Amino acid sequence: MDSNTMMYGVIGDPIGHSKSPLMQNRAFRETGVNGAYAAFRVAPERLGEAIAGMRAMGFRGLNVTIPHKVAVMAFLDEIDEGARAIGAVNTIVNENGRLIGRNTDGIGYVRSLKEEAEPELAGKRIVVLGAGGASRGILWALNRERPASLQVANRTWDKARELADSLAESQAPAVQAVRWEELKEACSEADIVINTTSVGMAPHVEETPIDPSWVRPGAVASDLIYNPLTTTFLQQAQERGCRIHGGLGMFVYQGAYAFEYWTGVPAPAAAMREEVLASFTGK
Ligand code: NAP
Repeated sequence: MDSNTMMYGVIGDPIGHSKSPLMQNRAFRETGVNGAYAAFRVAPERLGEAIAGMRAMGFRGLNVTIPHKVAVMAFLDEIDEGARAIGAVNTIVNENGRLIGRNTDGIGYVRSLKEEAEPELAGKRIVVLGAGGASRGILWALNRERPASLQVANRTWDKARELADSLAESQAPAVQAVRWEELKEACSEADIVINTTSVGMAPHVEETPIDPSWVRPGAVASDLIYNPLTTTFLQQAQERGCRIHGGLGMFVYQGAYAFEYWTGVPAPAAAMREEVLASFTGK
């Protein structure tokens, strides 16, 4: 670091578990970009002050995580189209004092899915389990790929219906809500089944969101969870002949897009993945 180092960071509460500093600093080292990235714990009532600090100190970029992804929008100068449709911001770019809010979660997931499991999403039948914060960005980004069908199911039916309705306002073709009881049939006909629920996440690693045998052999089973790296849902689906896709790639590519927005330099995604993986496995 020297007096020309550009500053970056992630704000959240809590933030001590974040792998973003390791991953982004590796990206700076790998590309030779003169930047440094740190994690900042920001309490909800101090969010406005934190963003004013970013402006005053000339930070080039921030990532934003739970619980600030929605509240931060009120403090920014511009929200791009995707973040507006999703209703949340996870990346801020400081363009000469103008703070622009973007969302790289959904597009990060789709880039990972295409590079690691299914290069062509157009014409595919896709089922998404869960209608929480992560599901929204993923549905928006998947819908842009023109799948044959895109269905969302949630334990709490109203949330699935509201999510499908709200996305239909900003985007065609529309996302369709299906009832949890209809999932077995929907999954058996799908080319890709994606778990965006928190079911199966450590420490409850033995749980699965649905019976993995509902996904047909040859189809892709995908899970946003990356702790564990391979969930029981993915493990059992693979045993039945499904192709599987874990959540680590989404984390890497949401960071890769942020890095590219900030620096204009292609992100060293393989090195970023290696860094995060090493922090899990201790290698
Ligand atoms: P969230 O907003 O809290 O949503 C949680 C979702 O899980 C809701 O749809 C909820 O359904 C469902 N759910 C919880 N317990 C359930 C159960 N026992 N049975 C059925 N459904 C259940 O969380 P989120 O932010 O969307 O995150 C969801 C998961 O994605 C987490 O595991 C998180 O770690 C992961 N994630 C990964 C990445 C990545 O980079 N790979 C990024 C973001 C999130 P109800 O509406 O019925 O409560």
